Amino acid sequence: MTALRVLHVGAECQPWLKTGGLADVLGALPAAQRAIGVDARLLLPGFPAICRHLLSPAVVCRLPAEFGVSGAMLVQSQLPNGTPVYVIDAPALFDRPGNPYADANHHPYADNHLRFALLGRVAAELACGLSPDWRPDLLHGHDWHSGLAPVYLRYRSDAGRRPPCVFTVHNLAYQGLFSAAAFAELDLPPHCFDINGVEFHGQMSFIKAGLFYSERLLTVSPSYAVEIQSPEHGCGLDGLLAGRRAVLGGILNGVDEAQWDPAHDALIAAPFAADRPAGKARCKLALQAELGLAQTAAPLLFGVVSRLTEQKGLNLVLAGAEALLEAGGQLAVLGNGDVALEAGFSALARRHPGSVAVVLGFDEALSHRLFAGMDVALVPSRFEPCGLTQLYAMRYGALPLVRRTGGLADTVCDANLENLADGSACGFVFERFAQTDFDAAVRRAFALRARQDGWQAAQQRAMRLRFGWQGPAAQYVQLYQQLAGQ
Ligand code: ADP
Repeated sequence: MTALRVLHVGAECQPWLKTGGLADVLGALPAAQRAIGVDARLLLPGFPAICRHLLSPAVVCRLPAEFGVSGAMLVQSQLPNGTPVYVIDAPALFDRPGNPYADANHHPYADNHLRFALLGRVAAELACGLSPDWRPDLLHGHDWHSGLAPVYLRYRSDAGRRPPCVFTVHNLAYQGLFSAAAFAELDLPPHCFDINGVEFHGQMSFIKAGLFYSERLLTVSPSYAVEIQSPEHGCGLDGLLAGRRAVLGGILNGVDEAQWDPAHDALIAAPFAADRPAGKARCKLALQAELGLAQTAAPLLFGVVSRLTEQKGLNLVLAGAEALLEAGGQLAVLGNGDVALEAGFSALARRHPGSVAVVLGFDEALSHRLFAGMDVALVPSRFEPCGLTQLYAMRYGALPLVRRTGGLADTVCDANLENLADGSACGFVFERFAQTDFDAAVRRAFALRARQDGWQAAQQRAMRLRFGWQGPAAQYVQLYQQLAGQ
C-alpha cells in the first residue's frame, strides 16, 4: 500500500515564521505524521520570513496570472525536520515587512482576501495535479487563511475526482471576514455567496467557507470542540457547528519534544529533568538576573508568555498583580499586542522595579528561559482552543494557573486536596472568569508552595506528563484513513 499523501495548508510554521501556536503545530504535526508513514507535506504563502529560509528551492511550476498577480511561482523546499514544503512565491502579495497579516499600524492588509484566496486556490490546484510529481489524497486546511481551499476544489470542472478536505480550527475568533465586493474578486460562483456557502451576515467569511465545505472538522482540543457549538464560544458560527456535530471533533495539540525538553535545551541556563530537578533553581536565578528581578529563591516567580489580547484574560493578571506582589511574588511578562495591555504591564513594571519585569516583543529564545525559570505560568484565558504555553510550562517544571476552558480544561488538573491525594494535581484551575476566582487561585499557589511535599509532587507530576505529538498524529491518521477509504 502506498503511503497516504496529505497536504497541510496554513499561514505560518516554526521555525520559520511564528506569531502564535498555529506555527508550532504546522512545524511539528506533519513531521510526526511522516514518522508514522504518512507522506505529509505543507503549503505556505511566501512571506519574507519563509522565503529567507528556503534552502535551494526547486521550482515546481509557474502559476497562472490571477488575483491581480502575474509571474508567481510554486517552489519546493523542506523544513529543517525534513518535512517537504511548497511555497507560493508571489512577492506582489506576500513580500511585505513585519507581521504577515497586518501593516505597521496593525491594520489588516486591504488585499488579504486576495492573498489568502491565492493560498486556497493553489492548494486546490495541487490537490488536482498541479505538480507532476506529487498529488495529495487529502487536503488538511488550518484556520481561516486556508478556508477557500475546499471551495475552489468543490467548483472545479473535474470536481468528481477531488480529494476530501479536513479543516482544523485553531481559533474561531479569527474569521477572515471581507466585504461582498471582495467576494466578487475571488472567481467563485456567485451562488456561493449564500447562507449555505461563504456568506456571513452580509460579509464573506473565509473560516465559514472552511467549515461549510470541508468533509471533516476538527479543533485542537475536545473541550473546545464542544464549546464552539454554544452561543458563548461559537462566534456566530455555533449553529453551523452544532448542525455539523457528527463530523466535528477535537484532537489535542502536542508538544514538539525536540524543541521543548529542559534536559536538552541549549537556550536555557542549566539542564534539568524530573529526576534531576536541580537545574531549575539555576534557571530561575539566571532569569531573575537577566530581567533585573531580585535574586532570591524564596518568592514564587509568576510568568506570562502570551499574545497580549483580550482572549488571554490578562486584565485579571494586571488587576491581581498588587496582591500577588504583596504576598511575596514576582512577575515576569513576555508578550506583545494590544496597546492598552502593553501600557498597563509597562506601568506595572515601572511601579515595581525588581519585582515585575515586562518585555514587550516576540522572543522565542527568551520564552524558553521564562518557562525554565518561572514557578507558575499564568494562563487565565477567557477561551482557549488548546493552549500550548501551559504544556511547555509543565514540561519545564512550572505549574500552570489556568481558567477551566477549552484545552486548558483538558490538560491541567487542579491541585485540590483530592487531586493531590491521588497524584493527579499539576496546576491551579479556576472556574469563572472573575477577579475573585483568579486571586483565590494565586493564593492557592502560595499555599501549596508553603507545603514543600505538595509542591514537589505537583511539579513532578507536571514534568512527567507527556503531551508529545505521537498520540495526536496517530489520531489524525486514523481519521484520514476513514475519510480516504484506506
Ligand atoms: P495562541 O496560539 O493563541 O497565541 P498558544 O498557547 O496556542 O496561544 O501558542 C502560543 C505560542 O506562541 C507558544 O509557543 C508561545 O510560547 C508563543 N508565544 C506567545 N507570545 C510570545 C512572545 N511574546 N514571545 C515568544 N513566544 C511567544
